[in-house]
Amino acid sequence: MSTLIKNGRIITAEQNYIGDIFIENDKITLIGENLDMSAKTIIDAKGKYVIPGGIDVHTHLDMPFGGTTSADDFYTGTRAAAFGGTTSLIDFAIQPKGKSFKEGLDIWKAKADGKATIDYGFHMIITDLPDERISEMSNMVNEGVTSFKLFLAYPNVLMVDDATIFKAMKHAAKIGALICMHAENGMVIDEIVKETVAAGNLSPVYHAHSRPALAEGEATHRAIALAQMAGAPVYIVHLTCNDALEKVADARAKGLPAFAETCPQYLFHSIDEMDTPDFEGAKLVFSPPLREKWNQEKLWAGLKQNTLQVVATDHCPFNFKGQKDMGIDDFTKIPNGGPSIENRLQLTFQGGVVEKRISLNRWVEVNSTNPAKIFGMYPRKGSISVGSDADIVIWDPEAEHVISVETHHMNVDYSMYEGKKIKGNADTVLSRGKVIVQNNEFKGVAGNGSFIKRSPFGTPLD
Ligand SMILES: [Zn+2]
Repeated sequence: MSTLIKNGRIITAEQNYIGDIFIENDKITLIGENLDMSAKTIIDAKGKYVIPGGIDVHTHLDMPFGGTTSADDFYTGTRAAAFGGTTSLIDFAIQPKGKSFKEGLDIWKAKADGKATIDYGFHMIITDLPDERISEMSNMVNEGVTSFKLFLAYPNVLMVDDATIFKAMKHAAKIGALICMHAENGMVIDEIVKETVAAGNLSPVYHAHSRPALAEGEATHRAIALAQMAGAPVYIVHLTCNDALEKVADARAKGLPAFAETCPQYLFHSIDEMDTPDFEGAKLVFSPPLREKWNQEKLWAGLKQNTLQVVATDHCPFNFKGQKDMGIDDFTKIPNGGPSIENRLQLTFQGGVVEKRISLNRWVEVNSTNPAKIFGMYPRKGSISVGSDADIVIWDPEAEHVISVETHHMNVDYSMYEGKKIKGNADTVLSRGKVIVQNNEFKGVAGNGSFIKRSPFGTPLD
């Protein structure tokens, strides 16, 4: 199997040049000018960008939450991802409380097996960590699960105490694992939720009001301080606001290995959109919540200045009818999460490149190269270079597209960006050398996505 991609403008995190790419089986084997080779498939990319496939390091496919399950499974979720130019993802496996990490990993591997159409890895969510289980973290690293996530939010469900986080970080530093933190002060939030409900404020916007930005800023600071004491790197997931951004900027200015991601919803939506007379605000209920609008430009600046290294989606879709409406009378019963696995590259191209907030190279870097580097997949993923997996997106910068429930491929009954007009879209998408999207048609195969056995933090994956 061989493919030649001709005449495209190759854009990586560092470079921008016209060239041809030759692919044999699943790898890039040659890059050059006017390559004169015979190939089984020839793709003319003239006038288009050729970029490394997007990598979404924060997804929740087929995930149980609050008595229901996220609406995309590993087939529909990865298919939608592919349509939007994402060719790898890292989902979150959950350690069943009191049980081994291995049990959690087996459950999530079974969800993905035979269904995924693009490559995938897992982070492991730690729900409890007695001393005798710490050594199991090394087993996970050996299995290619080289990052763990802990929660400072959701008491009695996912939250762990500071000592547990500190212990996990200390061990992670020894074994080359990266700790990801959901940084919100869950204990204080629970108190505010109780007060809010007691006052009879039950509509969706009160979900956001009960989770203040300061609760995120405080927890972000605490997560970074714990990591500093443990001598460990730390990665803050779904950072939403300036309070938290300032904490990461301070840490990085001191030279600490603190990293953070934001998500499209925080770049494009704000809390005032949730205050509607009907139940529409439920479509924007997730945690951490939406913030005041002025935070958006701070986040864009954070992406530009490298305070934020990654854009990921936190894709966790629930249908408006039958799932979100579980909380029609009480915001505490609305499943938390929204759909966007398909829209990440589109939205950040429009808001970032077209509207001139970040460069084309930076757009590739935050959507593909940095996720690969931070999570032990580079240079196999996140790069257009000889020896890399041929996960390639041919991006049409002139394409015009309307994001809508009518045009998207996610298995959910609404879009968070209904009617939004964007410029730029994925034209042709290859996963390890095979065309999986072309002419707006899906050509991928369930089960063709493979588990990515990731490298320890800071080491390359060949
Ligand atoms: Zn999440």
